[in-house]
Amino acid sequence: MMVIFFLLGLIIGSFLNVVAIRLEVAESLLGRSHCPHCQARVRWHDNIPLLSFVLLGARCRDCGEKISAQYFWVELLTGIIFALVGSLFFDPLVLATWTETTFYLVMSSILIVIFVYDFRSMEIPMTVVWSGVIMALLYSIYADWTGFGAGHKFLEFRTFAGVVGGAVAFLFFFLISYFSKERWMGMGDAYVGLLIGLVVGWPLILLALTSSFTIGAVFGLMLIALGKKTMQSQVPFAPFLVLGTFCVIILDKIYPQLIDLFWPFVS
Ligand SMILES: [Zn+2]
Repeated sequence: MMVIFFLLGLIIGSFLNVVAIRLEVAESLLGRSHCPHCQARVRWHDNIPLLSFVLLGARCRDCGEKISAQYFWVELLTGIIFALVGSLFFDPLVLATWTETTFYLVMSSILIVIFVYDFRSMEIPMTVVWSGVIMALLYSIYADWTGFGAGHKFLEFRTFAGVVGGAVAFLFFFLISYFSKERWMGMGDAYVGLLIGLVVGWPLILLALTSSFTIGAVFGLMLIALGKKTMQSQVPFAPFLVLGTFCVIILDKIYPQLIDLFWPFVS
């Protein structure tokens, strides 16, 4: 099962690469893949995720121009995330897991597009964020509706937990962005916060933010140690939010008590 989801992730990942790049240059999502340098069409056998990149030696077959390593890493990341989500959430015999798995795969795809887009351009693709927000809200309402009676406490309802989580994350980034005059965080990060808050809900959003900042700090220190960045360098933050969110979705499924270890007083 894991292998099937991994392969699905590779195919979707190769599509997400194209989505992120074409959104940036406002190009149609439907045209065939082509080399951004010489415009030559990519042959189908040169379009196989991971494999083609390695076999072609990261160069275009037609003009020899270097192909961005982004293609390879985004495909691999999507493959790994899909494999983990699929093996942790999906049970072919339980119908509810079909919608739940689909929800997490779609949200992962949206988050990966935000990751790539912010990484490339230091901007947040707002149409993608809003599509995610609407889908996350609709799914939460649907999940509460079909699982009606399961929750007794306010925050046991996915919709309420999501709205509280989204509001907390939005406000947190909004304030940082406002008081730092967008030097530490952009306003776009607040909307990404809203989205991931809706996806993971309260109190898991606290864990998502903690892991995002931890991953960001480790990564930042590594870049500074390697001499690639200084303390003053601008670094896009959405990629860390996305990675932190993935960690939480996966770790919470494996070990639901995790939140009590880090934030014992909120849950
Ligand atoms: Zn080319």
